Amino acid sequence: MSILTIKNWLDPVLRKKGEPVDNIDEILVKLTEDMYETTLDARGAGLAANQVGVPHNLFVVDMGVEKGEHNLITLINPVITAMEGEELSEEGCLSIPEVYATVKRALHVEIKGIDIKGNEVRYEAEGFMARAFQHEMDHLKGNLFWDNLGKVRRDLLKRKFKKKQKEKVA
Ligand SMILES: [Zn+2]
Repeated sequence: MSILTIKNWLDPVLRKKGEPVDNIDEILVKLTEDMYETTLDARGAGLAANQVGVPHNLFVVDMGVEKGEHNLITLINPVITAMEGEELSEEGCLSIPEVYATVKRALHVEIKGIDIKGNEVRYEAEGFMARAFQHEMDHLKGNLFWDNLGKVRRDLLKRKFKKKQKEKVA
């Protein structure tokens, strides 16, 4: 396994919609294994394929985060089948490092997709994990979490991102 480079939001690949995956081959399995390693290395909760430059309709999430353990799963061609409730909570993104904002999400979601073995899987999630699923679904649509905010707040976060990047160079 190897650690992949996570693209930041300035890379146009982050605006690409995930292309449906219709074949699970060795290359795809290797990609998801590398995405697991990359997520763990970055201490993230999940990663969409376009974040590592591959515009496939899949993401990985760590279902173990809340328990302080790791349980990474892959969801291919995922679809949210139900959403309920509302929750405001802080959110960040590995493609927008060190920038966080409060985003409104559904409290409860049901999601289905295909796992890396080709089986149809279905998950119910609440709170943090429901948020992670919605966040990754945004990526597969070519969206970012700050697209859920107004322009004023988004521009503020963009400035914050640029300031942080400058601090790193300095
Ligand atoms: Zn993200």
